[in-house]
Amino acid sequence: MKRIHQIMEYVQEHKLYPNIRVVDSAPETKIKTGGKDAVMFCANSYLGLVKHPKLIEAAIEATKKYGVGANGSRVISGNLDIHREFEKKMAKFMEADDTILFSNGYMANVGVIPALMNPLKVTASSFFERRAVILSDELNHASIIDGIRLSKAKAVVFKHNDTKDLEKKLKKYKGRRKMVVVDGVFSMDGDIAPLPEIVRLCKKYDAISMVDEAHAMGVLGKNGQGTLEYFGLKAMKDVDIVMGTCSKSMSAIGGYVVASQEVIDYLRVASRSYMFSVGITPATAATLVAALEVIQSEPERRVQLRKNIKRLKGGLSKLGFYLYGGEIIDDLSVAPIVPVLIGKDEDAVIFAEKLYDRGFFAPCVRWPAVAKNKARLRLTLMATHTPEQIDGLIKACEEVAKELKMDLVKK
Ligand code: PMP
Repeated sequence: MKRIHQIMEYVQEHKLYPNIRVVDSAPETKIKTGGKDAVMFCANSYLGLVKHPKLIEAAIEATKKYGVGANGSRVISGNLDIHREFEKKMAKFMEADDTILFSNGYMANVGVIPALMNPLKVTASSFFERRAVILSDELNHASIIDGIRLSKAKAVVFKHNDTKDLEKKLKKYKGRRKMVVVDGVFSMDGDIAPLPEIVRLCKKYDAISMVDEAHAMGVLGKNGQGTLEYFGLKAMKDVDIVMGTCSKSMSAIGGYVVASQEVIDYLRVASRSYMFSVGITPATAATLVAALEVIQSEPERRVQLRKNIKRLKGGLSKLGFYLYGGEIIDDLSVAPIVPVLIGKDEDAVIFAEKLYDRGFFAPCVRWPAVAKNKARLRLTLMATHTPEQIDGLIKACEEVAKELKMDLVKK
């Protein structure tokens, strides 16, 4: 415990402990926190479905029908038809054979990667096989990193979105079992993976391809199929493993993997986080079925979200703020995460506090979540934000930057 005490002292001394605010209302655009009203710019509910009547109704009805819990692992007693309904509908939505539903996205990544890359040895030759290799973008999400660690495969990190570096590393491991895994939309930089080239390289070097669609599902593509649709790619034909979470555009909780029937059948008996954990609640499963329907039946939410993203990016970059994920304001700038570089960790904390004083809940991320002195506001948008809310945030950012004497180059 002495080590823990030392760490906590360090954290306090350097003011690193985050100010974790309590939200006293639904996580919509207008919230109540700390007894005051604020406009939220950091929620994952990109399509603004958190209080959608159809989702709430589905959760209530499922609770009445099934009770409050699945009461068992999916592989024993907890395999409810409502779980299967979501899995089948998700597979249809992604034009793939089947889906496996985990309790959350983290569990999906730590379950699937080890199951695929450290599989059971059932043939004599598999005992002599060399350790598998997983090539992972340097900015991949923590749950992917933890999945790789649990798999005991050799982790090879390639430079962010650098397909030349990826190819160099794929060449080096010719002859080994390989997987390439990337975020579709990167969670801290808000940029998009160059998926077509990654898919081409995976086919050329015989590597399994896996994409984490946490921030892309429901958002990217005309129909919300995510990064694959955005680039005109297909699950199974182009990308072997499409993983996603139900905690962002679907506003609930759950993690899933869409793939071929054989792979899904295998994962059900090989993913430890699936087998040794209870199935999600019936209320949540029914919520997800309803969310998937709304994602398809209300495309105007995606259109509005894109307008909101463009409005915020346009306004901030005009003022001279550096935005990660590209400042170019065109139809391709569609990722719902808008990271605004502030720089020094202490400045970012002050910036976020000053925004809060002005009624905007928009926290910063800093080391160790991102590189030291690359601290940033990590703004996220919802389809339900109004132009007035977005313009208000832009104005507040301008005022705070002036107060802090930030060096902005107006365009
Ligand atoms: N992958 C990515 C890229 C994420 O951003 C997240 C959540 N922030 C996850 C996986 C984990 O998802 P969940 O919150 O459902 O556990």
